[in-house]
Amino acid sequence: MPFVNEKTYQRYVQEGREEEFHKLFEEGLKKVSEELGREYPILLGDRELKTREKIEVRSPIDTSLTLGIFQKADSSLVKLAVSNAKDAFRDWRDSDWKDRVEFTVRAANELRRMKYELAATITYENGKIRTESVAEVDETIDYFNYYAQVLEENRGYVKEMEGRIYKNERGVSVMRPYGPWLIISPFNFPLAITATMALGALITGNTVVIKPSSDTPLSAFKLVQVLRRAGFPADAINYVTTPGEEVSRVLETDLNVAGFAFTGSREVGHRLLKVFVNLRPRPAVLELGGKNATVVTVKADLKKAVEGTYRGAFGFDGQKCSATSRVFVEEGVYEEFLRRLKARADTTQIGDPRQRTTFMGPLINKQALEKFRKFVDQALSEGGKVLVGGKVREDTKTYLVEPTVITDVPYTSSLWKTELFVPIVLVKSVRNLEEAVRLVNDVDYGLTAGIFSEDEREVEYFFRNVEAGVVYANREVGSTTGAMPGVQPFGGWKDSGLTGRNAGGPYYLLSFLREQARTTY
Ligand code: GLU
Repeated sequence: MPFVNEKTYQRYVQEGREEEFHKLFEEGLKKVSEELGREYPILLGDRELKTREKIEVRSPIDTSLTLGIFQKADSSLVKLAVSNAKDAFRDWRDSDWKDRVEFTVRAANELRRMKYELAATITYENGKIRTESVAEVDETIDYFNYYAQVLEENRGYVKEMEGRIYKNERGVSVMRPYGPWLIISPFNFPLAITATMALGALITGNTVVIKPSSDTPLSAFKLVQVLRRAGFPADAINYVTTPGEEVSRVLETDLNVAGFAFTGSREVGHRLLKVFVNLRPRPAVLELGGKNATVVTVKADLKKAVEGTYRGAFGFDGQKCSATSRVFVEEGVYEEFLRRLKARADTTQIGDPRQRTTFMGPLINKQALEKFRKFVDQALSEGGKVLVGGKVREDTKTYLVEPTVITDVPYTSSLWKTELFVPIVLVKSVRNLEEAVRLVNDVDYGLTAGIFSEDEREVEYFFRNVEAGVVYANREVGSTTGAMPGVQPFGGWKDSGLTGRNAGGPYYLLSFLREQARTTY
C-alpha cells in the first residue's frame, strides 16, 4: 500500500466532525487521568526490575499530579540492559526483513488504536496542546508506515551487483545492522522522536536500549509495549530510566554499545559523541538544536508571514528544535509586520492544555521558566525592547509564560546565537534579502529556515544559499516547524546534526546499517 500521512485533525475538520475529535481526545484524557501515579519498572527483555531510588515525575500542567513513579538505574544497570540487547542481537540480526516490515505495520495499527490515549499521555507528560499531541501520535504512525515502505522498496537493502571480473563471479551488496544501540530521547516529542530513533534501529535489525528524558518517560514505556505486542522480540527492546550522567558513563566505557542515537541539545550531543568515539570510533545519529530564522521580504504576503511566524515561534511554547527564533524583515514592511505580529500574539490563550481553547500550555519545568526570565532580563539589559509578552504568569502549580517578541537587541548579543527553547522571538530589520540570508547563516546551527515571499526568484535564491537541512517557503502553518514523515525529512546541517540523513526521509535507515559486499564463485 502506498504511504499516506495520518493527519487526523485535518481530516476531522475537513469532514466537519471536529466535535468528535474533541470528544475522543477528552476520553483519552479521562483514561490517562485514571492511571496517574502508577509505578513503572525498568524493562530488560521480559524481566521487570525495580531500583531502590526512584524518579517521581510530576505533570507540568499541574505539579500536584504525579504522572508516575519511575526507577532510577545506575550505569551498571544500563550496562546490563546493553548486554541483554547484545545477547538478543544475533537472532534479530538474522530475522527476515519481511517479518520486520510486518511487525512495523502491525505496530502502526496498534498506535492508531491507542491514538487518543497516547496523545493525552503526551499532554499530561509535557504540556502539549491537543491538536499538537494528536499530531505527534500521527507523526509516530507515519514513521512506522513510512519506514516499512522504505525497507520494502529497497527489498531489505540486498542488491545484486551487476559487474563481473571473472566469469563465475557473483557479487551482492547487503546492508547489515551493527548491534545494540542506545536511544536517548528528549522531552519535547517523547513519543515521536523516541519512535523514529528506536524504530530506525530495530527495523534494520539492530537491538535497542531506550533511555527517555527523565521529564517524560511514560510515552516511551507505552511505545515499548506497543512494539512488543506487534511482534518485536522483548529482548530486542530494553527500557531504562536514569539520569543523563549515568548514560554518559556507559557511552564512555562500554564497548558493547554499537551505536547511539540522540536528540537533544547541541552541547550534550557533542559531548556524548566525543566520549563515545574516544573509546572507539562508532556510529552515532544526532539531531541537535537550532537557531532557526524566518525571512520576510517586501514581496511577502504579510498575513501568511505573521501567522507562520506566530505559530513557528510560539507553538508548543517554542520548545521545538525547529522553533522560529529569529526573524529578519525587509525595512519596507518592518513596522507593519511588527504591528500585525503584536496584534496576533495579543490574542494568545495561555493556560491548561487540557482546555480546548488553550494555544500555549506550560513550559516543561522550573528550569525552563527560569531560563525564560533570564533571557528576557538579558535582552532588556542589552537595550532590547519587549514588544509583546516578557512576563511569567505567577502560578505555583505550573509554568506559564507569555509569548514574547523582542526587537532592538544589538546584533553583538549572544541571544542572536544561542538556542533559547522558550517562546521568545527576536526580530530585526534588514536592508535586503542578501543581508537577511547572510544573517540566517551567521550561526553554528543549520536545522530549519523559512522565507515569506511571493516572488519565486527570491525563494529560489533563499533555498540555494541558506545553510539548513529543512527549508520552507510561505509556510503559514508554522514557518520553520511541523515537519512530517514522508513529506519533510527532518534533520540538521552544521552543528544541528552531522550525518545529513533526515528522519522520516528516504535515507534515514541507512544511518543504522553498514554494507557487506558478498562475493561467491
Ligand atoms: N520535527 C519537529 C518539527 O519539525 C521538531 C522536532 C524537534 O523539536 O526535535 O517541528
